[in-house]
Amino acid sequence: MKINTSSLTFKIFMAMVLGLFVGLLLRLGVSETTDLVIPLGLFDFSVKAVIVDGFLHAGGQIFINSLKMLVVPLVFVSLVCGTCSLSDPQKLGRLGGKSVLLYVATTAIAITIALTMAIILQPGVGIDAQPQSGFVAKEAPALVDVFINIMPTNPISSMAKGNMLQIIVFALLFGIAVALLGKEGNRIVTFFEDINKVIMKIVSILMNLAPYGVFCLMAKLFTYIDLGAIGALAKYFLLVVVVLIIHATVTYSLILKAFTGLSPVIFLTKMREAAMFAFGTASSSATLPVTLNTATKKLGAHNSTASFTVPLGSTINMDGTAIMQGVATVFIAQFFAVDLTLNDYLMVVITATLASIGTAGVPGVGLIMLAMVLQQVNLPVEGIALIIGVDRLLDMIRTAVNVTGDCMVTCVIAKSENELDETVFNDTSATK
Ligand code: ASP
Repeated sequence: MKINTSSLTFKIFMAMVLGLFVGLLLRLGVSETTDLVIPLGLFDFSVKAVIVDGFLHAGGQIFINSLKMLVVPLVFVSLVCGTCSLSDPQKLGRLGGKSVLLYVATTAIAITIALTMAIILQPGVGIDAQPQSGFVAKEAPALVDVFINIMPTNPISSMAKGNMLQIIVFALLFGIAVALLGKEGNRIVTFFEDINKVIMKIVSILMNLAPYGVFCLMAKLFTYIDLGAIGALAKYFLLVVVVLIIHATVTYSLILKAFTGLSPVIFLTKMREAAMFAFGTASSSATLPVTLNTATKKLGAHNSTASFTVPLGSTINMDGTAIMQGVATVFIAQFFAVDLTLNDYLMVVITATLASIGTAGVPGVGLIMLAMVLQQVNLPVEGIALIIGVDRLLDMIRTAVNVTGDCMVTCVIAKSENELDETVFNDTSATK
């Protein structure tokens, strides 16, 4: 296979590897509590303050902020464009129904695989781990509130807070209204289409910053990460990773092939870039501009489908998160020697699937929602403190799976609506 060394994907990958090594090097002298101070005559140079918490921290955060900056305008504008170009008004209901169904079904499959493998492989038996002290479980939001909050009371405040579901609802209503206006709405359609082009242009400009941003994020992460915790929790860690890989490669390939006949290999290859962004940022929400770009420009899904399914997926579809929650629940039950019944497992499947809908696409939220799953089957919430040490790394991997799932479902739905350009999908060099 010929590797294109000038491609962005390659550059991001190299930046990731380089960041990892620089982080491992820096940790020889710097940690949360220690610093490497180099006396320079006139002043002392603190590697921790200047390099790690200074440059690397700033570089990583600027990169993440730049992506987040685009999320709200991008979702709103592209969804309005997608909705007002709908020729068939019933399509929206169909799209909504199909996407929610597929997103929920893939999540339920993910957690079922996770539970089955964890029950067989018993990651929580005979491990020697201590709950991290000082951990206080945050309260997970009540499920009914998750549903009530879908309806915005003030769309400007929804946008200011970045509440994705509320933005989706408002954008859909706005788009439908424009479509219903018919000819009178034409001016606003053109306006939104132009803005959409501008925002997508900003996305491609900012994507070029990714190698630097990812380098900074990885280097800082590996300076501070607790590698010892991974050793102690190796069985749990590896099991989550294996299930994530199985789900992303086997489950997604089977569903894609069965529903669309498209090549899973091409699909997975084209997901590389978005998966790397997700890995680097650990946030499906921050990755959204790249996911949408991948779905439309590389996978060939039409904007009127993708602008709806991708933001929705980045909010409600968290297969990777559900996998972690499934393995973690069995792990914690085994650690505390609690026997779960078949009913309990069923409860875990249902709550974790619903929890995944309520999980925001930002780092670490999956762990907070795990509290809800544990409470449902009467397991000690403090169990979360056992696995928190390895969660950041798992968060990065599961976020990559989350966005892959969003794109897979988008392909299936686009194909079923006759809105998937297969020439673009099959063109391995397609970027535009
Ligand atoms: N970081 C994940 C995401 O953004 C959510 C989680 O599992 O914590 O998709």
